[in-house]
Amino acid sequence: NRRNPHQPEFVQAVQEVAEDIFDFIADKEEYHSQQILRRIAEPDRVVSFRVCWEDDNGNIRVQRGWRVQNNNAIGPYKGGIRFHPSVNESVLKFLAFEQTFKNALTGLPMGGGKGGSNFNPKGKSVREIMRFCQSFMTELFRHIGPDVDVPAGDIGVGGREIGFMFGQYKRITNHFNGVLTGKGLEYGGSLIRTEATGYGAVYFLENMLKHRGMDLHGKKAVISGSGNVATHAAEKIVQLGGKVLTLSDSGGFIHDPDGISQEKIDWVKAHKTHRRGRIEEYVEAYPAATFHAGKTPWGVPCDVALPCATQNELLGADARMLVENGCIAVSEGANMPSDLDAVHHFKAAKIMFAPGKAANAGGVAVSGLEMSQNSARRSWKEDELQAMLKDIMDGIHGRCIAYGDQGDGYVDYVKGANIAGFKKVADAMLAFGVV
Ligand code: NDP
Repeated sequence: NRRNPHQPEFVQAVQEVAEDIFDFIADKEEYHSQQILRRIAEPDRVVSFRVCWEDDNGNIRVQRGWRVQNNNAIGPYKGGIRFHPSVNESVLKFLAFEQTFKNALTGLPMGGGKGGSNFNPKGKSVREIMRFCQSFMTELFRHIGPDVDVPAGDIGVGGREIGFMFGQYKRITNHFNGVLTGKGLEYGGSLIRTEATGYGAVYFLENMLKHRGMDLHGKKAVISGSGNVATHAAEKIVQLGGKVLTLSDSGGFIHDPDGISQEKIDWVKAHKTHRRGRIEEYVEAYPAATFHAGKTPWGVPCDVALPCATQNELLGADARMLVENGCIAVSEGANMPSDLDAVHHFKAAKIMFAPGKAANAGGVAVSGLEMSQNSARRSWKEDELQAMLKDIMDGIHGRCIAYGDQGDGYVDYVKGANIAGFKKVADAMLAFGVV
């Protein structure tokens, strides 16, 4: 706290990892004497910059942009760019810190970073968004590169924004390379990148259930969010025979007791992405559903829960409610959606709990595969990529078990993910000496 005043999200993320790492390194002198955890918890650099742009009325607007390059011990910095009014240095430092472990867990050679701006894309015209993205990249380009730092999308940054930023990067540098991931298929993007995070979170959930001799068939799922991760998680749950009961956005959640079918998911995707609509309008299209303004969906009884909206959206009281209502597994599609109290409660109740850094790593994994395809100047087919994604999620699950199996049938996936991710990065740092 003293080193990072007014950065509660960052302190929370470091504290969560430190709790598990302390146990693991207790008898490992080298990690202590080399201050490895402290070094990982101090970003390599934080770049903060002015983003100046002109709105449609000719007003000059000034926003702040950041790139946090947390750690590049095992590969170029890699992590998304977020455009949301809630973005600040603390949020980006927490995300870059988490990303470092997540990327290590995938088994691919990627370091950890994150960036973004407090720019709010809601209500902006396409031309305003384009001008903002161009201005953002006019500064960012000097800090990134295919072997240096490879940003991707995140909240508020989808294929369209990546296109605007890539166009500006190419124009300024005259280089066509894999400097960004999440690109369009026409200019170096990868198949299944869009689906990868949501699908991956469900593959991880399936792996946890399988480990206990169960599957998703007939399971009732409660999902928050209605963006990229949430809708693709819902899609995969439905494909594997589960029933999705809820989706949400920052206005509240909808509960559809009939189940949110593929057709309804397609409606939500079109409504949220193309029409920029609100989830509450779902009940006009599907009247059997109800809308609950200003609320999160955790009170709806379910077998499995997937928080897929944003950080700290599932608190201790919500965790208690989920467990009391019979929820047996939680797979985090979003980054740190459960607060520390909720995580402690899930662990104490010994339900299956997959932290975001393990469960939502499918997205960055396919981004890593996009980098490989760009370097090789080729494109893999969809079925090859689907198989690689599934294989990577299986690998992450296996690494979590290796370090998180408590020996009594319970797997502490948080501990497993933290230790496996830490060990890979820490061992690389030890090899480099004191730098
Ligand atoms: P989107 O922008 O597509 O969707 C975000 C969703 O979360 C929207 O439904 C949004 O509602 C809701 N939301 C945002 N802020 C809040 C809030 N404060 N309270 C309630 N709901 C909120 O983002 P993604 O689906 O891509 O990302 C969701 C989460 O997954 C984030 O934590 C992201 O970091 C994480 N993630 C995403 C990856 C990816 O590949 N996309 C990869 C790994 C992690 P509204 O429309 O009202 O804003």
